[in-house]
Amino acid sequence: MRLLIVEDEARLAENIARSLRETAAYAVDVAADGEAGLNAIESNPYDAVILDLMLPKLDGMQVLERVRQSGRRTPILVLTARDDKESVIALLNAGADDYLTKPFDLGELLARAKALVRRGKGQASAALTIDDLQVNTADRTVSRNGRAITLTAMEYRVLEYLAHRPGAVVSKKELLEHLYDYNWEKFSNVIEVYISGLRRKLDDGSSRKLIHTLRNQGYVLRA
Ligand code: CA
Repeated sequence: MRLLIVEDEARLAENIARSLRETAAYAVDVAADGEAGLNAIESNPYDAVILDLMLPKLDGMQVLERVRQSGRRTPILVLTARDDKESVIALLNAGADDYLTKPFDLGELLARAKALVRRGKGQASAALTIDDLQVNTADRTVSRNGRAITLTAMEYRVLEYLAHRPGAVVSKKELLEHLYDYNWEKFSNVIEVYISGLRRKLDDGSSRKLIHTLRNQGYVLRA
């Protein structure tokens, strides 16, 4: 998954980014003002955006309104200093999916961001089940038919993305765009390596293969 943080307080932005990268294994981009944030949202397929309200150039409300006016459904969580009823109603009506009042607990932000990501993909639970495969995104554990499977960080990222979209054909480009930050192009030859690692750990010894390759189209996770 790939998230964008739009926040002008550099230290706060860095804290959130580090937590999302280390605890949730997300790829994270940071924009330091509303204009840069809007540009980033318009040019990248983020799985969720964390948007501060008080920003230079364009404020968070303007960014939110422009994103929704352009028809984009990118899940957006707004960080706000105000929690009076009128402000919250205005935010939700402008198209925010969730909000958190400053100061907030980093653990709560993380849990809300994860919930936002999975709802954006049509998943309700943190525990994803595909046939006899279980992917628990809350604690990042994977098991198949009750057998615990140890994955590398990148193998997990690939699997988590596929598990959020079971049965869908996911192209290599889509994986790259959602698993890496700005520099994704230089990683274009490594996806096959992660897929073959996943296949070895998930499918070997099982009569039902779960990871399928569709030539020139991409990968599908299904029984
Ligand atoms: Ca701010």
